[in-house]
Amino acid sequence: RRTYLLTGAASGIGRATAARLRDDGHTVLGADLQGAEITADLATPAGRAELTERAHELTDGRLDAVIACAGLAHFRPLTLQVNYFGAVATLEGLRPLLAAGSDPRAVLVSSVAAVHPPDPAIVDAALAGDEDAAVAAAQAAIDRGEGHTVYGSSKHAIARWLRRTAITDDWAGAGIPLNAVAPGTVVTPMTAPLLGDAAMREVVDASVPMPLHGHARPEQIAPLLAWLASPDNTHVTGQILFADGGADATLRGDTA
Ligand code: NAD
Repeated sequence: RRTYLLTGAASGIGRATAARLRDDGHTVLGADLQGAEITADLATPAGRAELTERAHELTDGRLDAVIACAGLAHFRPLTLQVNYFGAVATLEGLRPLLAAGSDPRAVLVSSVAAVHPPDPAIVDAALAGDEDAAVAAAQAAIDRGEGHTVYGSSKHAIARWLRRTAITDDWAGAGIPLNAVAPGTVVTPMTAPLLGDAAMREVVDASVPMPLHGHARPEQIAPLLAWLASPDNTHVTGQILFADGGADATLRGDTA
């Protein structure tokens, strides 16, 4: 029986993953804007601090796994603040609790959108840890009519943060695998409005082609998150695992 902390637990992929882990007999502390054990707004420094404080209070300072699912896909700087800065704060803030856990593991959710061309100004500012500059770069992209790049840039930046961070003393050196799952299109409240509109659905399917099994249900992504966060995963770290029905292979072709 393990103790997991999972952000974005009230909806979609996070909710399905929490349900699966509970079905497997584990304890899950969910965090979200509402409807979970911990209420925290990961877009703000205060909310990020609240997450770690509440996690300390609700555990004895030990967590066995952290799964960072919380995310947004609006054409707004807020998307970057949640998807990148919120995820980094979740993982860095809870790392000391993982270091005290058993077979600790961490997983975040990137996206196949990370392989779409990102906005370099957004990505560079995010990776430099400069939230104000990253927000300004996102706003500049929106003002140029390129608001669609904010989401992909946030997921690209978090994937690169993961690659750099996983191999450091704090993570690999402390015995904590850190990985990402990059889903294709999953049918959740995030995508329902897009998929419910025939014209938008065509745009989504053109940018995320899924020759294997088409759109996924959140329950079909949860097992991979659960496995990466389990003691069975001893040597997978710093990886972005595409659970995308073949979208990455289609978009990036013959690369290894
Ligand atoms: P969802 O909207 O169903 O769930 C996201 C959850 O994150 C919600 O419960 C929401 O309240 C929470 N959240 C948003 N902003 C927050 C904040 N400021 N603080 C705390 N919690 C916040 O969406 P989903 O599709 O389940 O998405 C889960 C993750 O998967 C996201 O990171 C998303 O980017 C990623 N993803 C989704 C898809 C897809 O097609 N649905 C594809 C690739 C990646």
